[in-house]
Amino acid sequence: MNADLHSHSTVSDGVLGPEELALRAFRNGVDLWALTDHDDTSGLDLARAAAEELGLGWVSGVEISVTWRGQAVHVLGYGFDPQDVTLEAGLCAVRAGRAERAKRIGALFEDLGIRDAYAGAMRFAPNPDSIGRTHFARLLVERGLFRDLQSVFDAYLKPGRPAYVPHTWAEMGAAVQWIRGAGGVAVLAHPTRYRLSGAELLELCAQFADCGGTGIEVVSGPQRPQYASAMAKIARHFDLDASRGSDFHAPLESGVDLGRAQALPDGLRPLWERLP
Ligand code: AMP
Ligand code: MN
Ligand code: MN
Ligand code: MN
Repeated sequence: MNADLHSHSTVSDGVLGPEELALRAFRNGVDLWALTDHDDTSGLDLARAAAEELGLGWVSGVEISVTWRGQAVHVLGYGFDPQDVTLEAGLCAVRAGRAERAKRIGALFEDLGIRDAYAGAMRFAPNPDSIGRTHFARLLVERGLFRDLQSVFDAYLKPGRPAYVPHTWAEMGAAVQWIRGAGGVAVLAHPTRYRLSGAELLELCAQFADCGGTGIEVVSGPQRPQYASAMAKIARHFDLDASRGSDFHAPLESGVDLGRAQALPDGLRPLWERLP
């Protein structure tokens, strides 16, 4: 079963539209695909129609930005009703802060001598409600200031760097409840990518399981093979389902293409066994 339950379209910070992603997933041999744009479900109608047309397995998805102990953590939701009004109100509130934050990022770049970054980043954001750091990073790469997105994040956009603007996203328990209330299941995204000690990661997972989380991304995007076995241990310890996704954003940027992330280790309960 080639499940890829993590990908981004132009609705958030990906560069392909939902239909192009569906086609790419299909061609790459994906059996079950989810579009998981940041804090926004407006691509799901197109994604579903394209998947149905292709005979590609599809489930609704979203990636919600959450603040946990002062840092951004991502919670994926699957199999929910995209029309659910409480979920949509929650996502709308999370998105509402993005425009203001982007203006502040632009002002910091201005102070650093990088002109018109806000307007420039907006050109990379077909959905202005979803403007984020990736769009700024693409602009600086386009201007020839950096080789790749990672270098821009390292120089300017990560916490502690000069164009980083701290932001308060949703509460973890609230995000999980929005997803569950809409009939879906919540999965902790890319647990190896947070700046947490081993003990803190265990606390995060415990709290996530406690507040109603169902699964954890054991395989997410490009990651060292040994991380999958470490996350598998955590999944078993907290009795969480295991998920897998490429976190694909763009053909020339993403370390792993759709459907090409490593396989889940054995002895886990794959999340997709409980999805519709
Ligand atoms: P935002 O929601 O605006 O804070 O942006 C978060 C997005 O930035 C993530 O979903 C990634 O797509 C991207 N991102 C975060 N950190 C990095 C990094 N170190 N290198 C490249 N992209 C990153
Ligand atoms: Mn992203
Ligand atoms: Mn993420
Ligand atoms: Mn993602």
